[in-house]
Amino acid sequence: MSDQCLFCGIVAGDVPNVRVAEDDDTYAFMDINPAADGHLLVVPKRHSTDLLDISPSDLAAVTVAAQRIAKVAVAELGADGVNLLNCCGAEAWQTVFHFHLHVVPRYADKTKDKLLLPWVPTPGDEGTITALGERLSAAL
Ligand code: AMP
Ligand code: ZN
Repeated sequence: MSDQCLFCGIVAGDVPNVRVAEDDDTYAFMDINPAADGHLLVVPKRHSTDLLDISPSDLAAVTVAAQRIAKVAVAELGADGVNLLNCCGAEAWQTVFHFHLHVVPRYADKTKDKLLLPWVPTPGDEGTITALGERLSAAL
């Protein structure tokens, strides 16, 4: 629990929010700037800053909760797909530094869906891809 943390305030009930679900370890609520209809966030009740900081058990709990909620959201809202998204670090678009998974239902009907693929997939340099893959493999 961090006194300064917005999402700790939401979990504690001190900050108004639209609650969707909770269990012993996780809390889910609607995002106030939805990328698509039904966009919500799943957070651990215990404060952790980001993907690099969260414990494996809290990460597992949040991920399992996000899957359960995603299945219900797709069925209930008639979505055509769903994205799970995590941003880790300001350079990776993180703006609230309490770990969270975005659950974003996706729709063929673009009046319900503002999310766009943020890069244009183009083939990378084969040598660079292989060298980085080998470096990561060795580090792991
Ligand atoms: P990120 O940029 O991945 O850190 O995501 C933070 C998300 O929190 C954004 O999608 C915001 O719209 C959302 N957000 C910020 N403040 C609130 C709030 N008070 N209640 C609900 N969602 C919020
Ligand atoms: Zn927090």
